[in-house]
Amino acid sequence: MSIHEPVNDTRTYAGISLEELHASFPTIVRQLRDYARMSFEQSLIAQGYEPKGPAVWSRFGGRNVDADALTRCTCTVCGQRGLEYRPWSKPGSYRAIARCTACNDWSEY
Ligand SMILES: [Zn+2]
Repeated sequence: MSIHEPVNDTRTYAGISLEELHASFPTIVRQLRDYARMSFEQSLIAQGYEPKGPAVWSRFGGRNVDADALTRCTCTVCGQRGLEYRPWSKPGSYRAIARCTACNDWSEY
């Protein structure tokens, strides 16, 4: 084989070709991020949190500033503008998740 021939890599992993793996990688990463977020949200539920925002009385000027701010944030992974606001609360405590709907990256906000 000369150096000018294309590399024909026929290796497989669990029966899947390298080419197929490379093509499906972004989908796999998206799914893994979703599973991690769902696992985190399950832990919040186990701690008594419900999927709802903070009480209106606690909002600055009656507005939910976190939800407002996330509409102007940019995803640090893929650059999409505007993040999904996923609030969780229980009496005396409030937490929020910021999620990118394009790449599924997320973090506690
Ligand atoms: Zn993103």
